[in-house]
Amino acid sequence: MRSHLLVATVAAVAATLIGAAPARAQAGQDNPSGDPVVQKIYDEGMHHSQLERLAQPLLDSIGPRLTGSAANRAANDWLLKTYKSWGIDARNEKYGTWRDWTRGKSTLELVSPRYRVLEATMHAWSAATPAAGVTADVVIIPTASQITDSAGFARWLGTIKGKLVLISEPQVTCRPDADIRSWADSATYQHAVFQRDSAATEWRARFTAAHVDGRTLPALLARAGVAGVLSNGWSRGWGVDKIQSTRAADVPSFDVSCEDYSLLARLASNGQSPRVHAIANARLARTESPVFNTIAEIKGSEKPDEYVMLSAHLDSWDSGSGGTDNGTGTITMLEAMRILKTAYPHPKRTILVGHWSGEEEGEIGSSAFAADHPEVLKGLQALFNQDNGTGEIDSVQTNGFIDAAPSLARWMSRMPADMTRNVTLMFPGVAHNESTDSDAFDCYGAPGFFLTSSDWSYTDYTWHTNRDTYDKINFDNVKRNATLVALFAYEASEDPTFVSRTRRVPPIDQRTNQPMRVPSCRVPPRSWEASQRR
Ligand SMILES: [Zn+2]
Repeated sequence: MRSHLLVATVAAVAATLIGAAPARAQAGQDNPSGDPVVQKIYDEGMHHSQLERLAQPLLDSIGPRLTGSAANRAANDWLLKTYKSWGIDARNEKYGTWRDWTRGKSTLELVSPRYRVLEATMHAWSAATPAAGVTADVVIIPTASQITDSAGFARWLGTIKGKLVLISEPQVTCRPDADIRSWADSATYQHAVFQRDSAATEWRARFTAAHVDGRTLPALLARAGVAGVLSNGWSRGWGVDKIQSTRAADVPSFDVSCEDYSLLARLASNGQSPRVHAIANARLARTESPVFNTIAEIKGSEKPDEYVMLSAHLDSWDSGSGGTDNGTGTITMLEAMRILKTAYPHPKRTILVGHWSGEEEGEIGSSAFAADHPEVLKGLQALFNQDNGTGEIDSVQTNGFIDAAPSLARWMSRMPADMTRNVTLMFPGVAHNESTDSDAFDCYGAPGFFLTSSDWSYTDYTWHTNRDTYDKINFDNVKRNATLVALFAYEASEDPTFVSRTRRVPPIDQRTNQPMRVPSCRVPPRSWEASQRR
């Protein structure tokens, strides 16, 4: 998932009001509807959770699931086996091919002017070094006073063959802003902010003077024959970096921790001639490998051609284990299906779940499914997507489906109060890209709802970072989320009313003074090679 902070809302109705006056029902538990199935779902989800037993093998044993990788396919097969073990029909649906890359050993060692093992790892899909590695000088992009024009930059390119180049801004400090703010008096804090802002300005000036930008630079460096590129994706927290795909197609690319990256930058900038031994062992399969969405199904008994769909992407970045992006979404939907199979095995409408790959590549898996299944789009009662971490679900984004809110509110009103205690129904909302898989359905006007979670330091500490691991999951929250999702699926399946698809008239975008554009559906690339031709 890319950040969801873009959400524009007009009004919200706190669903807790609806939950405030539940009818007293069965012993020990608020069950306003008195519906025994609601009770069963609640008991199964809250008292017989299997989440930890599911999360551990997925995140620790299979591990991170880069699209197209062997681990991605192993996770597809693990889902299939797990569903079959519960008696739920499931299939791995091939929708294309993608490059197949396997991460091996990657290390950086400072060998001069002193010895230190650096905190570093190669980016996903990085090119490899020779097996034994390479030892090289480390240099940094020249300052705007050292290089004043593109000719000067071209001359500099002629001097860096076989070297390792520092290509991102070194941080003045790797202390999170909140830490400085909590200790510093206002003058000291203002000075820290000033230092950080001036360093950012000075770094940008280097690119302006050289007439290059972050997009064009890697190819220029590759052509100059560098041994590799080093960068830092500091995520503004203690010891945490966002580590995603390499930006340098043909040369080894490493993320170096904030502390060690700034060390190398200071050594290089002060003429202390740092030298590093770099190893990046990685394997890229000669041909692309198939990519799959895992789809599971509990067939509808009365309206089999109408669908309630659960949605969460399976793929992840690979510097952590893809714990909260999107391991939590994956186990939430998996567990919700287990709960439904146990408590509601004969749903009125067909209940489907989509475990997509390719989300981090631009929702290609979910887009392919939507394009390949017009019958599901036509019969879609509601889709529930989760994709932002381990926090408790705290809002339902209605994405401009103005008449869907009463259905959602009615469903929530039938749920035990403590299930909806913190959930806000955001409506009418606007049709926009959430940068997650519900987009692939919303763009067709089929009602996909994004269930967002409270942050739990997702944005700074786990989203696409090297700290996104099993231990970051809060199972009390995820247990609650899986139970809530199962209750939503139950209510949506039972509701005699088909959810309205009336969309709000796009409001004026304050920034452009134009009507907000309703996102159009992307034609998914069916291969990595095809995606590069765009
Ligand atoms: Zn995600």
